[in-house]
Amino acid sequence: MDFSLVNRYDQDNVVVGKLDQLINWARSGSPWFFQFGLACCAIEMIAAAQPRYDLERFGIMPRATPRMADVMIVSGTVTLKMATRLKRLYEQMANPKYVVSMGSCANSGGPYWQHGYHVVKGVDLVVPVDVYIPGCPPRPEALLEGLLHLKKKIREETPLRKAA
Ligand code: SF4
Repeated sequence: MDFSLVNRYDQDNVVVGKLDQLINWARSGSPWFFQFGLACCAIEMIAAAQPRYDLERFGIMPRATPRMADVMIVSGTVTLKMATRLKRLYEQMANPKYVVSMGSCANSGGPYWQHGYHVVKGVDLVVPVDVYIPGCPPRPEALLEGLLHLKKKIREETPLRKAA
């Protein structure tokens, strides 16, 4: 949160700020992601959640059900067969929800973009994407950077005006 925009009254433990800012601060502090993967990129996503990269230090942790998750990381090749399942899982997530497209396959079909008749040429044809991460596969550091961009994007939202 940008504390320069917030008045702090330390002695009385009172913080005054815009409600939009406070909501965004809470949301961006815990973007829990849905624990599922589609192909090789998922291994890098799993690595990012392990102690060496330790996503949890940023409040980013895996959840085993879409109903508890805020973020879907699409890590791998989206086949036509999986696209309908992916869409269903996305619809089971509560709002507000975010999608990170991880790797060339999810971004555009990757190595299958030309001859892979069974591969969707970009997951944004199925669900709305907030952050794209390039690479085949992207390293855990790249995923980390993408998730930090997502946190920044959440902090710039205006949830109250959106609801009005
Ligand atoms: S982008 Fe590369 S590493 Fe990732 S799922 Fe596709 S082929 Fe595998």
